[in-house]
Amino acid sequence: MSDSPKALNFIEHIIEEDLAKGFSKSDLRFRFPPEPNGYLHIGHASSICLNFGLGERYSAPVNLRFDDTNPAKEEQAFVDAIKRDVHWLGYEWNTERYASDYFQQLYDWAIDLIKQNKAYVDSQSSEEMALQKGTPTEEGVDGPYRNRSVEENLKLFQEMKDGKFQEGEHVLRAKIDMASTNMLMRDPIIYRVLHKAHHRTNTDWCIYPMYDWTHGESDYIEQVSHSLCTLEFLPHRELYDWFLDQVCEENKVRPKQREFARRNLSHTVVSKRKLLQLVEQNVVNSWDDPRMPTISGLRRRGYTPESIRNFADTIGIAKRENLIDVSLLEFHVREHLNKIAPRVMAVLDPLKIVITNYPEGKEEWLTAENNPEDEAAGSREVPFSREIYIEKADFREEANKKFFRLKLGREVRLKNGYIIKAESCTKDEEGNVIEVQCTYDEKSKSGSGTEESLRKVKGTLHWVSIKHALTSEIRLYDRLFTDESPDTHKDKDFMDFVNPESLKTITGYLEPSLKAAKPEDRIQFQRLGYFCVDKDSTSEKLVINRTVGLRDSWAKIQEKN
Ligand code: ATP
Ligand code: MG
Repeated sequence: MSDSPKALNFIEHIIEEDLAKGFSKSDLRFRFPPEPNGYLHIGHASSICLNFGLGERYSAPVNLRFDDTNPAKEEQAFVDAIKRDVHWLGYEWNTERYASDYFQQLYDWAIDLIKQNKAYVDSQSSEEMALQKGTPTEEGVDGPYRNRSVEENLKLFQEMKDGKFQEGEHVLRAKIDMASTNMLMRDPIIYRVLHKAHHRTNTDWCIYPMYDWTHGESDYIEQVSHSLCTLEFLPHRELYDWFLDQVCEENKVRPKQREFARRNLSHTVVSKRKLLQLVEQNVVNSWDDPRMPTISGLRRRGYTPESIRNFADTIGIAKRENLIDVSLLEFHVREHLNKIAPRVMAVLDPLKIVITNYPEGKEEWLTAENNPEDEAAGSREVPFSREIYIEKADFREEANKKFFRLKLGREVRLKNGYIIKAESCTKDEEGNVIEVQCTYDEKSKSGSGTEESLRKVKGTLHWVSIKHALTSEIRLYDRLFTDESPDTHKDKDFMDFVNPESLKTITGYLEPSLKAAKPEDRIQFQRLGYFCVDKDSTSEKLVINRTVGLRDSWAKIQEKN
């Protein structure tokens, strides 16, 4: 992260105004509040960086709060994954909290509401309640149970808690205003019966508080000063405040809800529900499939925490939704990996080269620099021998002047090695070149200091010695969706846009220095792109993911604009 002072975003302006009005800096407190119903995705990274970034800027605590009020969809495995991902991104939370820790307090407050005649048990079906709710242009009407006595409400609510009713038989509603212009204020449900075991409270409860009732009160319990959420909660703010009015004491911090726009990324979906669909329908292999826009998928793909944080920092936060091109994310990982990834040679589409004047059986080890961007990265040795592979695309029998790679009668330099010249080639029955015979200039070895070693030829190719090469499985990824914005079409489902060719598996030939590579090691295959060792690797065989190619399509888009 850079040290240069950055312009304040609009949330920081709101905080600065509060401080200017006398709010004590030591009372600032934030939270990141995921629901453990799936894995975190790149959209969440924006919220994480925002909240933890504020914590850093103001030296204020940031809680990790699990909003776990829906046992039907939540799991301990998701809690674990979320913690792992936030940590991996490089953030430390102050305390780990759970909305479920507050179930008793929320229940007690609900009893208070009933006693003050501000909540009642409604015993209608959800269809009946929906009919009475009205529309945005038409006021709602009071239901038949709205004026139940406090005693009856207390008794029924107790029985709801005691498990005497089936799901849907009764709900507890806040008694606010059925004529409010804000539909959410028309007696919102605050408790429902759910006979489901919860991943933390098990079967202690069979009534569960609704999100709106839980969220603001949890913020209050934790004394969160600024509760930041995405724009769809803007109409909920009035309700958030109404609920706080019921419990807030004078000498306590009263949380303030403010909203920012969701971040959407092109060619993917950022919604846990939709990502779950991709996993359940086996479109991808798992939540951390390298094609997924989840934090763990990006991690497995080879992204670094720094690159994700820099991306989130660059796009910042906004008041309106817009689509961020995935190439901007790729730009950031390329930028970081360029600094840190060791360079190695690998051939992914091999063509055999025989160097006819190189002695059979001879081998030598050539010195290769690990990272021209980082002197401290040092160097390694790569073996050279009479038979090597180059990429098929790097040879043509004939080509025009602009083709600076290998062609018959012309020279190229082998990276870290010799200058070779193509003399002849062998073809199969269909006319495909299957072998090229070359000669090499013995005195031209890179770094040997001879006049020939300094000789400039147009074109340098990467290569691997065939007999020394490691064979590995290479997974090449493409966009998961063919459409830029797959979940915004009225007449089509996002699943209709799944790219059937988002994964291509090939065999690659790697220089032997990679023998010691471990899962999550990130490397650059010279001239090909950035790659990352996958956890599916075994001691016999490496499995390697392509993170991103070397070409920067983002810069091109920028130039055009
Ligand atoms: P999803 O629809 O993917 O489940 P969510 O908003 O329901 O998203 P939560 O677990 O409730 O997911 O989100 C935790 C926090 O992250 C919330 O404050 C939410 O507003 C924020 N968040 C979620 N998605 C995005 C996004 N795409 N961009 C920015 N913030 C997001
Ligand atoms: Mg949600």
